[in-house]
Amino acid sequence: MSSEISSNGIANNGVIITETSKPLPAGVTLPLYMDNHATTPMDPRVLEAMLPYFSGKFGNAASRNHAFGWEAEKAVETAREQIAKLIGCTPKEIIFTSGATESNNLALKGIAEMYRERGNHIITQATEHKAILDTCKKLEKQGYRVTYLPVQADGLIDIEDLKRAIDDKTILVSIMYANNEIGVIQPIAEIGKLCHEKGILFHTDAVQAVGKIPVDVQKDNIDVLSLSAHKIYGPKGVGALYVRRRNPRVQISEQINGGGHERGMRSGTLNVPGIVGLGKACELSGEEMASESARLIELRDYMKAKFEKALDYVHVNGNMEHHLPGNLNMSFVYVEGESLLMGINDIAVSSGSACTSATLEPSYVLKALGLGDDVAHSSIRFGLGRFNTKAEVDYVSDKVIDVVLKLRELSPLYEMVKEGIDLTKIEWAAH
Ligand SMILES: *Cc1c(COP(=O)(O)O)cnc(C)c1O
Repeated sequence: MSSEISSNGIANNGVIITETSKPLPAGVTLPLYMDNHATTPMDPRVLEAMLPYFSGKFGNAASRNHAFGWEAEKAVETAREQIAKLIGCTPKEIIFTSGATESNNLALKGIAEMYRERGNHIITQATEHKAILDTCKKLEKQGYRVTYLPVQADGLIDIEDLKRAIDDKTILVSIMYANNEIGVIQPIAEIGKLCHEKGILFHTDAVQAVGKIPVDVQKDNIDVLSLSAHKIYGPKGVGALYVRRRNPRVQISEQINGGGHERGMRSGTLNVPGIVGLGKACELSGEEMASESARLIELRDYMKAKFEKALDYVHVNGNMEHHLPGNLNMSFVYVEGESLLMGINDIAVSSGSACTSATLEPSYVLKALGLGDDVAHSSIRFGLGRFNTKAEVDYVSDKVIDVVLKLRELSPLYEMVKEGIDLTKIEWAAH
């Protein structure tokens, strides 16, 4: 990071903005969490359900010959039912994993290996999570062909592109349900229908969708689906893979050997407390989905309206009609992204920059929408969740507006734009 951080935490390449120390509004404490696509705090009700399984009910769910084992197995089966109910499958179709990264790996590698004789072509898209993209890269090294569909400016894939990409060697299509950065919901049912007509398996990374919007593997024609507990107010380190058992019966080649747990697809002693937590998280999300999503949509739209009223040169990233309730990704053009983030460093949000080891790379998702590096860097993902309040939304939006206004006062680019100078026509001197 190039800027110097002053003692009050705010800097703009040496120019210090003095912060007015107003008292915090009622109900707001700092640091403030608004990054619920990265992870969510556990719901206390989930924790309560899990606690007994760390101590008294510690049995191994695979112990078939005593009460400790039966008790653990029963808890695991209850969780399977809770998950199945949320996504419209049967409990037997749920395979427990260590999280969605593993679920995605298992789905892609397991299907690629199992159906190798039928073909070697996989179709996915540019804005997938790294757990899909990096797995595909690995498969390419092993001789598979992968098509990465582009997305349109609003983040949706074009179904015609998908149709054109399918050939007689295509064995799998993997398209995420909802995007973790821009909140865009893909036309999943339509994609699933197309795949089924062509006899191609359809996997979806539904981590951001499950528990937030209605997901039904039957209506959506999904064959394999990844989900994760810690994105729905459950614990970290546990997830599941739905694997369809009929019409068609999907086979997956196991990637971890030993013991034959989970119908042979994923060996290893089950994480019983984690699985109980995942089940409970699914149950709660299902029960509260309608009211929670209505509340989050209202908060999100309120926040968006506040930005649009107070600031010019702001825009939303991602199609707003097909959109997750709690997601708002906005670009604040003509401010330097790094300074913006430093100005709000008591608020946990995500920026349009991916901090890799040495460099600040613009988000590949935003770039896939056609955003330039600068605009990507000046973008913020607000991830609203179950525990965010109206008071917090007000605090965050007021603070962001304040910082953006101050940074723009210092921005020569913004001044030029206001004076009507066309920035694209300027020839910058090379240094
Ligand atoms: C968080 C996330 C993952 C990874 O899930 P883990 O359980 O953390 O491994 C995969 N895909 C999407 C879309 C995600 O948001």
